[in-house]
Amino acid sequence: MKLKKQVTVCGGAIFCVAVFSLYLMLDRVQHDPARRQNGGNFPRSQISVLQNRIEQLEQLLEENHQIISHIKDSVLELTDTGAVSPSGQLPFRSANGSWVLPFDGRPTFLSVKPQDCQFALVEGHYSMLDVYSLLSFDNVDGGVWKQGFEITYEPTEWDNEPLQVFVVPHSHNDPGWVKTFDKYYNDQTQHILNNMVVKLAEDPRRKFIWSEISFFVKWWESADAHKQDVILILGGQLEIVTGGWVMTDEANAHYFAMIDQLIEGHQWLEKNLGVTPRSGWAVDPFGHSATMPYLLKRANLTSMLIQRVHYSVKKHFSSSRSLEFMWRQAWGTDLFCHMMPFYSYDVPHTCGPDPKICCQFDFKRLPGSRVNCPWKVPPRAISDANVAERANVLLDQYRKKSKLFRSKVVLVPLGDDFRYDKALEWDQQYVNYQKLFDYMNSHPEMHVQAQFATLTDYFSAVYKANGVAQGQRPPGYPVLSGDFFAYADREDHYWSGYYTSRPFYKNLDRVLESHLRGAEILYSLAVAHARHAGMEGRYPTSDYSLLTDARRNIGLFQHHDAIAGTAKEAVVIDYGTRLLRSLIGLKRVIINAAHFLIMKNKDVYRFYQTEPFLETDDRRATHDSLPQQTLIELDSSPRYLVLFNPVEQERLCVVTVLVNSARVRVLTEDGQTLPVQLSAQWSSAVQMSGEASFMARLPALGLAVFHLYDSVDSPMTLRSDTLLRLPGRSQSVRGIDPLPVLQIVIGEINTCEIIRRKDDPQEVRVQIQFFTYGTRPSKDKSGAYLFLPDGNAKPYTQRDPPIVRVVEGPLFAEVVTYYQHFQQTIRIHNVPGVDGLSLDITTMVDIRDQTNKELAMRLLTDIQSEDTFYTDLNGFQIQPRRYLQKLPLQANFYPMPTMAYIQDSQYRLTLHTGQALGVSSLASGQLEVILDRRLMQDDNRGLGQGLKDNKRTANRFRLLLERRSSSSRAVDSGPVSFPSLLSHMTSAILNHEVLALPVIPKKRGVPPLRTFSPLAAALPCDFHLLNLRSIQNQDAHSPSPYTALLLHRLGLDCGLEAQNPGFNCSTTQGKVSPRSENRGSLVIPMSLTLMYSAAPLSNSSIISLEPMELSAFKLKLR
Ligand SMILES: [Zn+2]
Repeated sequence: MKLKKQVTVCGGAIFCVAVFSLYLMLDRVQHDPARRQNGGNFPRSQISVLQNRIEQLEQLLEENHQIISHIKDSVLELTDTGAVSPSGQLPFRSANGSWVLPFDGRPTFLSVKPQDCQFALVEGHYSMLDVYSLLSFDNVDGGVWKQGFEITYEPTEWDNEPLQVFVVPHSHNDPGWVKTFDKYYNDQTQHILNNMVVKLAEDPRRKFIWSEISFFVKWWESADAHKQDVILILGGQLEIVTGGWVMTDEANAHYFAMIDQLIEGHQWLEKNLGVTPRSGWAVDPFGHSATMPYLLKRANLTSMLIQRVHYSVKKHFSSSRSLEFMWRQAWGTDLFCHMMPFYSYDVPHTCGPDPKICCQFDFKRLPGSRVNCPWKVPPRAISDANVAERANVLLDQYRKKSKLFRSKVVLVPLGDDFRYDKALEWDQQYVNYQKLFDYMNSHPEMHVQAQFATLTDYFSAVYKANGVAQGQRPPGYPVLSGDFFAYADREDHYWSGYYTSRPFYKNLDRVLESHLRGAEILYSLAVAHARHAGMEGRYPTSDYSLLTDARRNIGLFQHHDAIAGTAKEAVVIDYGTRLLRSLIGLKRVIINAAHFLIMKNKDVYRFYQTEPFLETDDRRATHDSLPQQTLIELDSSPRYLVLFNPVEQERLCVVTVLVNSARVRVLTEDGQTLPVQLSAQWSSAVQMSGEASFMARLPALGLAVFHLYDSVDSPMTLRSDTLLRLPGRSQSVRGIDPLPVLQIVIGEINTCEIIRRKDDPQEVRVQIQFFTYGTRPSKDKSGAYLFLPDGNAKPYTQRDPPIVRVVEGPLFAEVVTYYQHFQQTIRIHNVPGVDGLSLDITTMVDIRDQTNKELAMRLLTDIQSEDTFYTDLNGFQIQPRRYLQKLPLQANFYPMPTMAYIQDSQYRLTLHTGQALGVSSLASGQLEVILDRRLMQDDNRGLGQGLKDNKRTANRFRLLLERRSSSSRAVDSGPVSFPSLLSHMTSAILNHEVLALPVIPKKRGVPPLRTFSPLAAALPCDFHLLNLRSIQNQDAHSPSPYTALLLHRLGLDCGLEAQNPGFNCSTTQGKVSPRSENRGSLVIPMSLTLMYSAAPLSNSSIISLEPMELSAFKLKLR
């Protein structure tokens, strides 16, 4: 604070450098005998270079004496290390000025077998990329079916084969949107389900479908035994569709969470209802991902339905009768999919092409009701007098709709949001429709068979009509690959805003997911070890309820109005509060499991609920605040620090902890002193506290124990150099000394240039620039869903040049640039392997004083990517994209849950992200990400609010530049692409941070601890351990003896330069031995949601996965 004032007084003409740590270091270099012994021959010339530099810097300091003295004090305080006593090996500067770390004594290797890079791409189908190239997107008026065309038919068409009509009553229940989950339940959902029990039981011909298990569980748990009994005997009348905890968002959700909420729903259904869902139902997610058919297929569903697809795509598919197709993955599996043809899933848009007619068959809108038909023709109750006329009018719509499909079977959903909450509505719909059906079915000349149905009734009829088994491809039906983003429901209203809306919570969700996975794995391992040691009674197995709570809250957040950022402010607070509660719970599960697992002697293990053994790594004061790292208080006695590596590979990384001392010494478990880089943690541009960074090698999924001392004797502690550039000095400052792989050069305002290091003959320039979008001046404006920019982005400007701070030390260097609305931190880790091969970028955004603005970060490069770029779907697969000039700007944005890349024949640049955001490539060589959006108005999709609750948000990225080899270029035009192994690893370390858990000091001392490494042998490096999920016991609050192991074999592009990942990495043609990997005695292959099992693997057999395969196994850990 004090410093800030001084800056103002000085008028800004300041350029200063804090070099005091350098002084001390230089001093030590000259007098440190160990230095010379280590072969770190410090050439005389080098020292004089340093001295010269210091002199230059001092000269600058003179000019800004006041400010410097302040920083000097702080830095000195932080870096006063006292006496020097050499031990271990120090990092040193090489002749070219770069830092060199001592060899850590462990060679690593990379062995990826060529046969693990090959994919049997399935030919003979068409892709959505082709469809997009083909379409003109002209939006001509289609008549009564505005976005379609006129449909005609011959009245005799059904004479030989009558039309089968399946009317499927449904009620779309959002688990939070305009109201919170609980409020919806109390106001509407409980009444819907209560009425359902009564009204379905009245007539066995009545059917109903339900999809959101979150609501169903809440109702079931409060329902009386009678209602529960009725549900159990309803049998085929009630169908559970999809059976997920929610109907997930498909743009922003990560496949870990999509699967987890599906398991949670399916496990509940199996235990309580004995039901196994057959068909998927997704009428409201704002665009559809190709990951869904794969997940549903692996969960043994046979068919699925989607609704929100671009109106031009719907029209195209309708005209070619391709609305039902096999939705295929590039690696071959597919699922039968039905795409609804019209505008919406409400009644006016489901009976046929004419909403004016269909609305007349929504009997909730009978005169006198609160809802009516906007087409001005109200429904009429069906009577003997009008039934003939009404039945014929409705049949005309059914027939027209059926003309869009290949079989003489037509699906007619009958419902809307929160429908059927009143008994009256059940009577209105079911009684009137039954009269219509009775009339139709009793008049053979109409050639129709109409009935209430479930979704699976419909699909079964389609398969039967085509003479194929459930889930098989009917002859002649198309096969399609690709996805359905971006969604537009009308005009140029593209729903590409919600890819970024409320990024704070998109980031929080990812943090929760990583904690959930970590907690599941450690809990499963700890319980298994406790059982094995006969100590189950002493371990807090009741933590299982914390896991359940977190699974369900994270599941709830995958709902298409939750992670999408499209709920009302009060509902966002409700979600945030649930997530924070679960985060605290998960941290408790993690520290409780870690406590048990690191005890050297389990006999002295004691668990006290009120006395945790470990502290958490960080803390959030509220659901909408950023985390505060835990301060480790050091004194003369050692502090133990436990590091948890949630990644399934060994990890060599820089770990940074907050300490209260500048004299920290870090030892490994076996007493080896580690080099420590001391730097300041800057709570503002100019305020700091102590940060100790060290390089740690952590076992896969393991817990490593370190010792921290406040030690005057800490020769391995090295201070960072700090350099500040304040406004008023326009000349560019020196760059950071060359670091192992990458180099950062600070350019003028609004840019940061990154240049490939010199070991590559060719430099690739990567500039980072910032831009803003406004929204349109009139009529339709951007909101939570829609992105409607006012033209191209404008460069972000501010009056003064930004403050730039550069920190450099042996383990990392960083450049922090402070703008008015954001701060960008770019950090390079100087360690071998994955952690050192990419730039770590954090963009702290705060646009709360803006009006109708969206902030974008643009990467500009020399890469000749032309119009092609690549984005991931749900962190699971990569989808090639093409920038299309014929579409408006906002149509060219796509979801980016984990990564996006551009490439040419030589390079690939991948931006990895730690939260879902919207991305595009608007010109060759560019990638652009929307960081946050502040919008003052509603965009007319029912929310009734703008986006005005922005938070201070930390968006996290990793930027990776890779060189391509010739072998990979052939596939560039194909419908499929994969990240490299290094890219997968980079994404893993970004999304699964190391947790630093300090052991709380005990009065009677801490019992002996030891590092815990669960894997007997390394997993092949193309295997991702998605989860090790403890399976629930019948009593719901404790674990069964079984654990679900979920494995994903990653798809690899091996055509990128192989870099040493820093650990031993090999591939095995998809084979892994379960006994050695997971210490299981019994391994049962399961469907993805654990509902179906195959014969157990014999002890000698091995797990074998195809590339991209996701598989679940049930096993008993021991
Ligand atoms: Zn919805």
